[in-house]
Amino acid sequence: MRHLFYNAQVLTQDKQQPVATAFIVEHGKYIAVGNAALAEANVDAKTDLLSCYVIPGFHDAHMHVWKVGNLRTHMLDVRYVTSLEELQSVLKAYADAHPELTWIQARGFNEQNFPTHNMPDKFDLDTIIPDRPVVLTRTCAHQIIANSKAMELSGVHRHTPIPSGGEISYLPNGDLSGHFTETAIGLILSAIPKYSAAELREMVLSAQEACLSCGITTVTDPAVDRDLLEVYKQMDAAGDLRMRLHAIPIRVPDGKNTVYPNPALYTSDHLIVNTVKFFADGGLSGKTAAVSKPYVGSISTGVLRLTFDALLPLARSSQEAGFLIATHAIGDVAIDTVLKVYEAIHGEKHRIEHLGLPNQQHLEIMHKRQIAAVMQPIFIRELGHNFIDALDSGRLAHLYPVQTVLQRDIPLALSTDAPVVTSIDPWVNIQAAVTRTTKSGITIGPDECISLEAAIQAYTKGSALVSGVGNQAGAVAVGMQADFQVLRSLDASGLQAVYMDGNPL
Ligand SMILES: [Zn+2]
Repeated sequence: MRHLFYNAQVLTQDKQQPVATAFIVEHGKYIAVGNAALAEANVDAKTDLLSCYVIPGFHDAHMHVWKVGNLRTHMLDVRYVTSLEELQSVLKAYADAHPELTWIQARGFNEQNFPTHNMPDKFDLDTIIPDRPVVLTRTCAHQIIANSKAMELSGVHRHTPIPSGGEISYLPNGDLSGHFTETAIGLILSAIPKYSAAELREMVLSAQEACLSCGITTVTDPAVDRDLLEVYKQMDAAGDLRMRLHAIPIRVPDGKNTVYPNPALYTSDHLIVNTVKFFADGGLSGKTAAVSKPYVGSISTGVLRLTFDALLPLARSSQEAGFLIATHAIGDVAIDTVLKVYEAIHGEKHRIEHLGLPNQQHLEIMHKRQIAAVMQPIFIRELGHNFIDALDSGRLAHLYPVQTVLQRDIPLALSTDAPVVTSIDPWVNIQAAVTRTTKSGITIGPDECISLEAAIQAYTKGSALVSGVGNQAGAVAVGMQADFQVLRSLDASGLQAVYMDGNPL
């Protein structure tokens, strides 16, 4: 069937033809993009778009899809709490309401939102829930607090060796405090019974609803373990995936002394596996990103999770197996390590996730090798107060330098990294890219603001390009997948309809 859409303001994201007013879709793809003259074409159906905007569906290039769903279904969401007392009271109420849960899990606290700024410890959890294991994950997902019962069931004690690339905190008397970071969180998390395939499916379906309802038609899940990958494949085979999903398997699981082999390449209409994931450091909001100069008021320079020597053979084998490589790197030391590895394997078009504090030399290498930056301006909005606390003004001025990346002609994709942040809404993220203003109204690094048009481009065409599908998605252009959104205005309130393969959802 040939379907004409007309009377629209189409922002195509296609350089050859940046704007159009009409287009025709057949078999899920655009077969013509043009102006009012298309009305003469022989078609089977016509839709008047009433002067609305049309842009490609958003592609969030780094969102932990199942975790977004998990917080909507099987886990307590504590991203909103503003004090230890509030955290304790919601945890207690949740545990009381769910006597069937063998482990109590919550995610999303940020101690910088508490009046004291103090990291909770095991005692804070033991006093409210002594009899069941409790694991509380910080908003960044790179740090956890375990209660005594959780450490007991995990077999972790004061003499447990500290895994490389991780930290364990101790009390002055040498006992465990309950606070674990980076790879050490795996010591506790690996003891939690795994979710069943049915539970994971439920989480993914819930996240999918949330994505589609805000115009996100494609999502990249940037850290997929083997069980989840199986679930994604089963869901794909069963036709459960309405959005398109790029799954990026991990090769180095936390808290285990193993490396997973390369997964199999996989391509279907709704599921793509063409990239693998590594973590080179932690996060800035919790001061675990690997930096060359200590954090403000601290002697810490963060945690380098993978050294050059550890990452090199893994990256080389993944590249030889035909994969793109996506490596989490935020601090300058981590970025340096990753780029040295990419250079050593003569890698091109690989990715760096987040890219918090690159220096000029890093940006040059990224330009030369067309290494993509997958960035999250929304961090400035939601975690900006943490950054102000952790970094001096020199580093803040070019933190997450989105505009510099664009100026250097480095491929850029935008994403939220949800549930690290509370909102998956692309327009909230775009607003953050344009203003770089924190929730409390402070602007961080105004030189790195980008235009609305550039942000939309990075969220659509940019994401498709860095995901290896730039020739089939991300623009309203002949031959491309007809996934698009109709908007009355270019903001969160404007969304009128979402189309996949030219069909309305
Ligand atoms: Zn992430």
